[in-house]
Amino acid sequence: MLTRVPAVDESNGIAKKILTGITRRQNGLTNPSRIRIYEAHMSQQLGGQPIIILKEGTTRNRGQEAQNSNIAAAKAVAAAVRSTLGPKGMDKMLIDGIGDITITNDGVTILKEMDIEHPAAKMIVEVAKTQDAEVGDGTTTSVVIAGELLKNAEGLLAQSVHPTVIAEGYRMAASKALALLDGFAITVKPTDTAMLKKIAETALTGKNAEVAKDHLCSIIVKAITFVTDADGKVDISHINVEKKVGGSVDDSALIEGMAINKERAHPNMPKSVKDAKILLLNAALEYKKTEVSAKINITTPGQAQAFLDGEEQMVHAMVDKVIKSRANVLFCSKGIDDVAQHYLAQAGIFAVRRVKKSDIENLARATGASPVNSIDAITAKDLGTAGLVEEKKVSGDEMIYISKCKNPKAVSIIVRGGTEHVVEELERAIHDALMVVSVVVEGKKIVAGGGAAETELSLRLREYASSVGGRGQLAIEAFAGAMEVIPKTLAENAGLDAIDMLVNLRAAHEAGKKNFGLNVFEGKPVDMLKAGVVEPLRVKTQAISSAAEASVMILRIDDIIASSKAAGPEGGMPPGMGGMGGMPPGMDF
Ligand code: ADP
Ligand code: MG
Repeated sequence: MLTRVPAVDESNGIAKKILTGITRRQNGLTNPSRIRIYEAHMSQQLGGQPIIILKEGTTRNRGQEAQNSNIAAAKAVAAAVRSTLGPKGMDKMLIDGIGDITITNDGVTILKEMDIEHPAAKMIVEVAKTQDAEVGDGTTTSVVIAGELLKNAEGLLAQSVHPTVIAEGYRMAASKALALLDGFAITVKPTDTAMLKKIAETALTGKNAEVAKDHLCSIIVKAITFVTDADGKVDISHINVEKKVGGSVDDSALIEGMAINKERAHPNMPKSVKDAKILLLNAALEYKKTEVSAKINITTPGQAQAFLDGEEQMVHAMVDKVIKSRANVLFCSKGIDDVAQHYLAQAGIFAVRRVKKSDIENLARATGASPVNSIDAITAKDLGTAGLVEEKKVSGDEMIYISKCKNPKAVSIIVRGGTEHVVEELERAIHDALMVVSVVVEGKKIVAGGGAAETELSLRLREYASSVGGRGQLAIEAFAGAMEVIPKTLAENAGLDAIDMLVNLRAAHEAGKKNFGLNVFEGKPVDMLKAGVVEPLRVKTQAISSAAEASVMILRIDDIIASSKAAGPEGGMPPGMGGMGGMPPGMDF
């Protein structure tokens, strides 16, 4: 049986400490006999035995083997989403543990649903997640680039280029790439709705949503225009996207106001109110229960009646305050009890209870109302307005539409489609498009799509590489080559000859046609700006910088130590981490 002792380094540290301690204690004179005792003690424990520093069951993977397994995992993630890239990308059907189906073309959705376990693969999934959170689109692009960066690094590792040289080269190339992209980006005006529409169209290309591209993109651009603040900032959370299965994609609509998934509190309330004066209330219209338990002794029926009347009067007084405000529509984020509902209905007020806080916030922006937190604090100034508030049945469910708002700062999009899967994928596509348009409204810069930006970047980075020289040049060239994976994959997915397409694209760019990208339908390079295939600059910069960062991080790892718990149910390394199963539990360090 192996005995556990501290690691050599650690023991040496202890030895040093002991030695200095002894030296100090003896005023500079070391006691030779004590040192001899200590040395004897050490050698006894070191003698021919492996030293264990890790817990039993811990597995370890080092050097080239660790690098290879990480790179292989990252490449596998990229390969998994690659076929979905571009206008001719295919969709994936994902079935989860309980049999729920998701059909999607969206990189990040695929990766999230895939339940990836390998640690390096997870790092690549993070790239897609960051891309989604920051810019909404380009998730597949970011993952495919990360995979290619690592694939090219693998080639350099095989030529014995040190990983830190590659990492440094990649870092230099990434920062140069961002500067270059910024240099050839095109500035657009946030008011250029025709251009914004093209950006939305590019984001929707290749998705199911394409069938009603024109209609959807008009909706998307209009929605963004409504919610853009005076200082040019856009928060797409002010666009309430409501899914409703039924109808067709063409029936999707923009409500210049709000549409919320709710119904009136009481059937006797009016079904629609014109020239609505809207009160938003964050307080309950209910009889308040005391927080401490109290006991009331009632001895006669009269007393019981008086008590109940008292409760009712209290609620009545609350409702009176609402009526006095002259509001004819009430949205309450808390409860409205039966008695209050009755009085409100009697007063002809259209009331909705338990409205989500986020909906209240958007209602405030849409109608100009300011939400009130206490019934006593209601004033006429707090009311908002809308041309029409009505309850409508959509696909068998009640919905409330607050429309004809004057200059609404929050709007809703109703997403319609034949089946649940269609509506869900449509919602994801609309989210991507809303994000890209908002990114351009804020950032004002775009680049040509269809692989144009990547091809130009690749060319310019190669020029930069030769100016750097040395081994770093090799890494920068590998980075430059990795950029071409985008036009290459677009061509492959469209069933075109990738090599031919790349050669033609390169030739066009060398001739100074820097916006030429791949027309995947005709299989030839065309000016993507003219073709209207444009993407926000930030989608590209974010994709390249996070892909580069993740690949550098993965390249720098040369030791994987996995504790048995993290290693999954079988107790081995996560799948694909290399054959470490035969390792004895105690390893030398
Ligand atoms: P991602 O998740 O990366 O956004 P997509 O499947 O949306 O993946 O594909 C985006 C890529 O498709 C971009 O490189 C974009 O320029 C390209 N693309 C979009 N529309 C067209 C088009 N009409 N012709 C050529 N390429 C296009
Ligand atoms: Mg996209």
